[in-house]
Amino acid sequence: MRGTPVNRFCAWAVVAALANPSISTAASSDPPALTGSGVADRLYRLDCGHSVANDESVWTPGENVGKSIEFSSTCYLIKHGRDVIMWDTGVPEATVNDPKGWSTLPSLIVYHVERTLTSQLVEIGLAPGDVTYVILSHSHGDHIGNVKLFPDSEVILQKAEFDWINSGPQADPKLNALTALARELLGHPKKLRLINGDLDLYGDGSVDLISTPGHTPGSQSLMVHLAKSGYIILSGDVVHSKGNFERRTVPSLNTDRAQSLASMQRIRSIMQTRHAQMFINHDKAQTDQLKLIPDFYD
Ligand SMILES: [Zn+2]
Repeated sequence: MRGTPVNRFCAWAVVAALANPSISTAASSDPPALTGSGVADRLYRLDCGHSVANDESVWTPGENVGKSIEFSSTCYLIKHGRDVIMWDTGVPEATVNDPKGWSTLPSLIVYHVERTLTSQLVEIGLAPGDVTYVILSHSHGDHIGNVKLFPDSEVILQKAEFDWINSGPQADPKLNALTALARELLGHPKKLRLINGDLDLYGDGSVDLISTPGHTPGSQSLMVHLAKSGYIILSGDVVHSKGNFERRTVPSLNTDRAQSLASMQRIRSIMQTRHAQMFINHDKAQTDQLKLIPDFYD
């Protein structure tokens, strides 16, 4: 039953690719084009939930077996001129203050949300309808839970990710549950842009999407350039913690270990050349130190 809408959206994406020269065709191993020294105006962090998993060893294979771990879930909002960009949309806000929480894999992890996205946007005088772009790091439910809050925004994700969640049943039932949930949460955006590899969104180096596959086939990270703060990389799930990044540890649930290591290395080298810092989405210790909306980085 998915055939018609999926084909329709693939067709839309092809039309968009032909009509929009800003869609990147760069190979994912190339560094993102630095075509200028443009800057975005502001970067805000939003609280998009937190979670407790009952076995940390899924993220640190061979270590911390049966130990519980708490993760943060973050979303970010970037103001660039008149444009408003949402990077990821977090855990579905319908579950706000539900003591039972919400889950993508109930046997492993449970998420809780205390603040809706809408209420956080209000703090800076915005509503979901003001958001120009919704850019998704990847299709896991804790990152795309509120895409349907933004029906008028252009949704951007990697074509490899879209193809993966629409590739039909696989052998692993857990994987099938994840991709089915992804299709449900993504829905059928009116404006969907599927990209291949890196994308310099404004053509001036202010907002770069960096292809970082491995956690999932079409995972990406985002690098924003700010006047005072310099370059900040928003991780997506290229890593889950500072410890994993330093020790090159790959979670067992990642779809491709070699790609994961290569993507981490790619981020490492970009951090060096741009003197960039990285905000790691699920690293609760780091997240707790970051500014929270209405405070911002500029
Ligand atoms: Zn993920």
